[in-house]
Amino acid sequence: GVDRPVVGRFAPSPTGAMHLGNARTALLAWLHSRALGGRHLLRFEDLDTGRVRPWACDTTRRDLAWLGLEWDAEFVQSERREVYADALARLTAAGQTYPCTCTRREIAQAIEESAGAPHGQEPVYPGTCRLHPADPARPAAVRWRVPDETVCVMDALTGGTLCQNLPAEVGDFVLRRNDGVYAYHLAVVVDDALMGVTDVVRGLDLWPATPRQVALGRALGYPQPRYLHVPLMTDFRGERLAKRGGAPPVQALREGGEDAGRVLAALARSLGWEVPETVEAAELLPVWRARLEAAGSFIKSQT
Ligand code: GLU
Ligand code: ZN
Repeated sequence: GVDRPVVGRFAPSPTGAMHLGNARTALLAWLHSRALGGRHLLRFEDLDTGRVRPWACDTTRRDLAWLGLEWDAEFVQSERREVYADALARLTAAGQTYPCTCTRREIAQAIEESAGAPHGQEPVYPGTCRLHPADPARPAAVRWRVPDETVCVMDALTGGTLCQNLPAEVGDFVLRRNDGVYAYHLAVVVDDALMGVTDVVRGLDLWPATPRQVALGRALGYPQPRYLHVPLMTDFRGERLAKRGGAPPVQALREGGEDAGRVLAALARSLGWEVPETVEAAELLPVWRARLEAAGSFIKSQT
């Protein structure tokens, strides 16, 4: 268990308008923080500047406030590059990083020439630059020399366990891109630790990324948060909602005069919860507490 005061967070990437799927994850993260009497943080993950839409932060703030999912503190990753630099410097000082100047094409070729990518999995970087010094004429990414370990993580909501052999299934992954952008995996691990986050509630799409994040956190000497992965919202075809796929933006509902309570109720119903036509976020707290108990009391309420 976690003996620290409970801190949860919602960590959107401001790459577009928040859609109902994002709002549902935001709702569950908020319910979790509040159900445990914890603090709730809002963190904008805006390091990948090429994909960021600057207006999206403000729209997201308004959407969350409209839904009644208020937060105790806000952070913006692009203002925190020094803390990622510090963490990276520590790993480098420990001999755990190396520069990589491989292009995408070179990596694809190297994988092709070795065993080929494991079926149905993301390609694993074959470690080319571990041995060969990087080409000094090219801009270098920085990779983490992953420990030769199998890392297992349990999800506190589903009770499921995921084990990954880091060298075979993940490979040495990028901590800082060759354009200087700190990678999501580094930033998320550093931030969750420095912000005292005890409970990570997020979409199931990030479950496969969890073992590598846990490993990175261990290498940096951080306490491990609990992870609760929630299902992604799908459309009537069963396809995952996406910002680009025309999923209805919360902003449109809000500006169109929709009732926030009805939107919350619809989000709750999409999870199979039986709720009235219109609800306030706090009215859903007992449902989330019951959900946690059903999960096998992995988590004890501190309230
Ligand atoms: N920023 C990530 C996203 O929007 C979420 C990161 C996380 O919750 O760990 O997909
Ligand atoms: Zn390389």
